[in-house]
Amino acid sequence: MAPVSAVLFLLTAGTAAAERLHKYTVAVDPELSTLSVRACFDGFAPATLSAESLDATLALTDFRVEGSHKAIEPSGSISLKSVPENGCVLYRVDVSRPIRQHDRTGDKIHHVGKDLLTSVGIWFWRPERLEADEDIEVAFLLPEGIAVSAPWKPVAASSGQPVFRTGRSPYDWPASVAFGRFKEKEIRVGGARLRLAVLDGTPAADVEQMQAWIQDSAQAVADLYGRFPQSQAQILVVPGARGNEPAPWAYVVRGGSPAAHFFINQRRPIREFFDDWTAVHELSHLLLPYVNSDDIWLSEGVATYYQNVLRARSGRMTPLDAWQRLHAGFVRGMDSAHGLTLAQATESMYRDDTYMRVYWEGAAMLLIADVRLRQMTAGKQSLDTALAALNDCGRATDRAWSARELFDKLDEVTGTGIFSEIYDQHVASRNFPDLAQTYRALGIAVGASGIEFSAEDRDMRLRDAIMNAGAPTTSEED
Ligand SMILES: [Zn+2]
Repeated sequence: MAPVSAVLFLLTAGTAAAERLHKYTVAVDPELSTLSVRACFDGFAPATLSAESLDATLALTDFRVEGSHKAIEPSGSISLKSVPENGCVLYRVDVSRPIRQHDRTGDKIHHVGKDLLTSVGIWFWRPERLEADEDIEVAFLLPEGIAVSAPWKPVAASSGQPVFRTGRSPYDWPASVAFGRFKEKEIRVGGARLRLAVLDGTPAADVEQMQAWIQDSAQAVADLYGRFPQSQAQILVVPGARGNEPAPWAYVVRGGSPAAHFFINQRRPIREFFDDWTAVHELSHLLLPYVNSDDIWLSEGVATYYQNVLRARSGRMTPLDAWQRLHAGFVRGMDSAHGLTLAQATESMYRDDTYMRVYWEGAAMLLIADVRLRQMTAGKQSLDTALAALNDCGRATDRAWSARELFDKLDEVTGTGIFSEIYDQHVASRNFPDLAQTYRALGIAVGASGIEFSAEDRDMRLRDAIMNAGAPTTSEED
């Protein structure tokens, strides 16, 4: 038994880290039409509160300082001049219908069957900056039978109501909170806790099957270096998407903590979900911290490369199939955005539909790096071990990284110059990377009917190390 003093010491140490904690309480009505928020500030209130969405002021009703009858009108942000030390504010947000007036970045309020999906930017009025010793606690008061899914870190609470800490990622990074009659499922994988919420749909999605699908995809990512790259994440599965694929639309957001949102066609058979690349792609994004949108080729490159590599390793497709898919992708990349540099193709991606170039050139650069790293270190290092080392070195996750910074960091953790060399060679080039040397090293030839493998032992070992074995391991099994 631990001595009492030691226990007390641990408790104090734990609360000492709580520093200045602003406390929000968010209540939702049973109809899921109004959020009523009480925000109390620790010490002096921040000068202003901001919400990320341009439409947040339209959804806001009745903002006032607790104890005062005078409503405060927002003008962009909300001034808290009249809030006393340790004071509170009260406000309500109408979430009964979508608002699309100024904000062009998509609906901030979705009613999904009987459930409600909100972007926090429409309702979460918060300080724009938190100092190193500040954090925000958000507690939810929910009607009987209503659950909440939030991206933030859950904290234990005696009330039985869900309580989270938001952390200090930028206030305008997107995040979503869902309310509804779902039951959140915890998926434990590679040391992480993924909190899955499957929202309402007609027909209802099979929650057990969705859980198995996410578990399987997350396991493929965790197998890259033996653990999932984040300690926790919110996973939202939203039924009702149109399209012939099982998951026609999905993305990762980072506000508060990482989250992956999957908009699914729940009518597709579960086998198609397991065969689909989307979930492995999205969860592979979590291998890197948030990358600047100017450098989206890097985050998409990692996800695109590993969506194939990891599915081959987990037996979802054959190595040959994975090489074929990579090659077909590189060909699509070569055929896209002629005359543009990668940087230009990235900049014009949404306008000019240059996705193929951006995604596949990113993937090609990572394949080149993976092969060179394995060759140079006789298989001791790989892109897998480099990403594991990057994750280990406690990279900051509450700011955006540039590709240059991340490539420099990857050089540092691998003790090589491979990444910056590849960066210098390709980012400003108008040509898609020449893969001839890489293919030669892998013993890959492009024949009339697709990819052909050489029978050379050395080539086969390199190919297998990428598509079969994963990270180099010792001979012992554990
Ligand atoms: Zn992606």
